[in-house]
Amino acid sequence: MALSGIQIYKMLPRTNCKDCGFPTCLAFAMKLAAKQVELALCPHVSDESKAELAESSAPPIRLVTLSANGNSVKAGNEVVMFRHEKTFYNMPGLFLRVKDDLSPEAIKAAIAPAEAFKVNYVGIDLTMDGFAVESVSGDPATFAAAVKATRGATKRPLVLISGDAAVMAAGLEQLDGEAPLICSANSDNWEAMADLAKSHKAALTVSATSLDELAELTGKISAKGVEDLVLDPAFRQLNSSLIAATQIRRLALRKNFRALGYPMITFPGDAGDVGRVSVQAAQAIAKYAGFVVIDEFLPEMVYPLLVLRQNIYTDPQKPIQVQPGLYEINNPTADSPLLVTTNFSITYFSVANEVEGAGLPAWLLVTEAEGMSVLTAWAAGKFDSERIAKDVKRFGVAEKINKKQIVLPGHVAVLSGELEEDMPGWEIRVGPREAVDLPGFMRDAL
Ligand code: SF4
Repeated sequence: MALSGIQIYKMLPRTNCKDCGFPTCLAFAMKLAAKQVELALCPHVSDESKAELAESSAPPIRLVTLSANGNSVKAGNEVVMFRHEKTFYNMPGLFLRVKDDLSPEAIKAAIAPAEAFKVNYVGIDLTMDGFAVESVSGDPATFAAAVKATRGATKRPLVLISGDAAVMAAGLEQLDGEAPLICSANSDNWEAMADLAKSHKAALTVSATSLDELAELTGKISAKGVEDLVLDPAFRQLNSSLIAATQIRRLALRKNFRALGYPMITFPGDAGDVGRVSVQAAQAIAKYAGFVVIDEFLPEMVYPLLVLRQNIYTDPQKPIQVQPGLYEINNPTADSPLLVTTNFSITYFSVANEVEGAGLPAWLLVTEAEGMSVLTAWAAGKFDSERIAKDVKRFGVAEKINKKQIVLPGHVAVLSGELEEDMPGWEIRVGPREAVDLPGFMRDAL
């Protein structure tokens, strides 16, 4: 049974040392009771209390990790219904499914473009996360060959799909030393599938067409010692899958209903045409899938899905940042101009892309502004003349360029006077307000 904040508080050291990031042990206990933090944040809890608090501090949605060859996909461990309440942590893995009615060569050909897909989005590489292999042949040897071909074509984590334990066993034999997801256990085969999951240390999907049945099955399977479970509420329509996913999430988070406290897998690929697949996959990413399986790799579908995922799973309190430093654009020389901006990713890429696209060489000084855009950082006192002057020194800018000239973003023209004082001997120029106008300014005014 869940403990109250006061009950948890009594088991904490009660020293108010603040090492957990909270001002008091009571504040931390309240957060713990609300499932919004993990017990591990307090390094001083006694082993005895840890054991007692284990149930209460366990995440309401279990963390399940698939791993292979140093790659991993994590799902679960979420603590809120809505991103605006706090943040979502573990992005749903995007998997491409192949079936064993294809030849090994055809499987490799289907996987190759998805495996090679990599797009840089504001400094982050977006890629597929893994592959699923499904047995439609029902033949263990055919399935084993398909799994082998898939493993030969990718090093990413795999999901194996078959309801037949003998077929699944043949596929698992190909994946020694990995932690795949096997899919799926139902009311007919759950004991055999649970045995396989246990012996191969695999995570196991549990599939049922009602939440009651799903909860009953997870109870039986976890009692057999298989804890890494993934739920497949077998609803494939847009509305029914959304209702099931929302109910499961609510029951896990709001009611602490352990039997449904696991991440979910969805199969938008079953929807058929590309439009429906895209919409269902987008819905699943937003609410509340841990693994999303599609059947066709189309870059024009996958890219927006990955960007959507990135946006939803970015902590709104931590802007996407680039590393402060002196960046080179188009192989600048000592005579190339020096521009300055903040380390908010979108600001950095707006400036860098405009200058790079225009083919102009330049140095771009990116200052530490806690990931804020130029105007926001200036208003918050994080982008001022003192910081710019400090970063010019810190990154050895003067040693790289001949002409001591620096171009300020037009939005902070107001800093030019102070900067002249903080950087004596430097010429301070005020550039345009918008990045799009930089190439013209650089050609005409520098
Ligand atoms: S780290 Fe532990 S002991 Fe220190 S304030 Fe937090 S809960 Fe209390």
